[in-house]
Amino acid sequence: MSALTALTLAEARDGLHARQFSATELTAAHVAAIEAARPLNAFITETAERALDAAAAADQRLGRGEGGALEGLPLAIKDLFCTRGVATTAGSRILDGFVPTYESTVTARLWAAGAVLLGKLNLDEFAMGSSTESSCFGTTINPWRRAGDATPLVAGGSSGGSSAAVAAGLCLGATGTDTGGSIRQPAAFTGIVGLKPSYGRCSRFGIVAFASSLDQAGPMTRTVRDAAILLGTMAGHDPQDSTSVPAPVPDYEAALTGDVRGLRIGVPREYRVDGMAPEIETLWQQGVAWLKAAGATIVEVSLPHTHHALPAYYIVAPAEASSNLARYDGVRFGLRVPGGTLDEMYENTRGAGFGREVKRRILIGTYVLSHGYYDAYYLRAQKLRSLIAGDFAQAFAAVDAILTPTTPSPAFALGENSDDPVAMYLNDVFTVTANLAGLPALSVPAGRAANGLPLGLQLIGRAFDEARLLNIGYALEQAAGPAPKPARWWEAA
Ligand code: GLN
Repeated sequence: MSALTALTLAEARDGLHARQFSATELTAAHVAAIEAARPLNAFITETAERALDAAAAADQRLGRGEGGALEGLPLAIKDLFCTRGVATTAGSRILDGFVPTYESTVTARLWAAGAVLLGKLNLDEFAMGSSTESSCFGTTINPWRRAGDATPLVAGGSSGGSSAAVAAGLCLGATGTDTGGSIRQPAAFTGIVGLKPSYGRCSRFGIVAFASSLDQAGPMTRTVRDAAILLGTMAGHDPQDSTSVPAPVPDYEAALTGDVRGLRIGVPREYRVDGMAPEIETLWQQGVAWLKAAGATIVEVSLPHTHHALPAYYIVAPAEASSNLARYDGVRFGLRVPGGTLDEMYENTRGAGFGREVKRRILIGTYVLSHGYYDAYYLRAQKLRSLIAGDFAQAFAAVDAILTPTTPSPAFALGENSDDPVAMYLNDVFTVTANLAGLPALSVPAGRAANGLPLGLQLIGRAFDEARLLNIGYALEQAAGPAPKPARWWEAA
């Protein structure tokens, strides 16, 4: 590993400005790390040539004393963001050959600030999953292993390529998207920071849609400061996304004082779920103790509709997905499998193009939206969603943020949950509520399981209160101490 790939995004930024190294050197070090890490299967597409060209241009700007907030910093992008001229797959065969003619707003903002694209990262097909096992490009392997055990583990999902790449030092930061936990769960599984912003904070324009009322883009980084820096560029109003909110973007990095004295932190009693590993409970208590020691007040709160969140999510998300995915018909994008009639062409294309999990979601979604079942399922799920949002509104009258574990377990082995969709869906038990309520939520690495794997704590905040959330996360990060890094077994492989 080169010293340049061990830097945080903030350190790399400051090093570039101090001329300690060039953007070209920084990018070349990451390109070499990516090549050495191919056994992780984190990338679907590598764009080394484009990256080195962009880095050379960044060096010119830096040399003239110019450059944006992310000038010369190499990043990688979940392959759900459309990138002009670079294949975008959503992890699906159905987008075979699709090269976007436009750029997503979030990535356009990153390039305008001077960031360098290293490549596109693996994910569950259409972001449906918690392990990247539904990607048609194969599963991403977690850089972490259990102590004394070489069993390959998942890096979480759906943003598993992003979490693995960041944890392994293949990029300074990555984008993820989070519909029900896809930024936070993989972040927790790999010992990194992941932030799902408030709904409407980042534009969804140019991001392949999964469930439009839940999807949000966010940063995945090795430190809270790096997340604050990236969010500052990613966030902001976009007239091309009518659900993006025209609110000013605060200086998130400046908010990181680490001072949480006087803040009230809620601990929801309903998040103590059956079957949760005892070490998750211990981690949670540790988080409570850290924040208390830092001067925060801990308040028990109740979110009484929590146990309805997972079922409500697994109706609303497939319903929206079944509608969003209707556009993949063999006519407009990617794959086309011919047939004798138009209908046959649709059937052949969708039959060959979609994988098992995506087909399952389309079937569930179509069912819950169909005449006669709409009221029984979809409408009731929407009502539950309002009740869940109401629970949070009530809790936030008494507290400034809510602390929970991010996941009910550490990373699991490949294949361990893949035959049982319900077991897989249980991964999202602590994360889906924030999406249903549109709230920002942050996962911070906060210790390790008995088997040596990283664990994460989640902070949920008021809508558009990312600055405070990041600051509380910063306090947790300081209390937890420097996050350990995985042993680099793949470099010897
Ligand atoms: N695991 C959840 C799902 O499969 C969440 C996915 C996501 O956030 N994109 O729906």
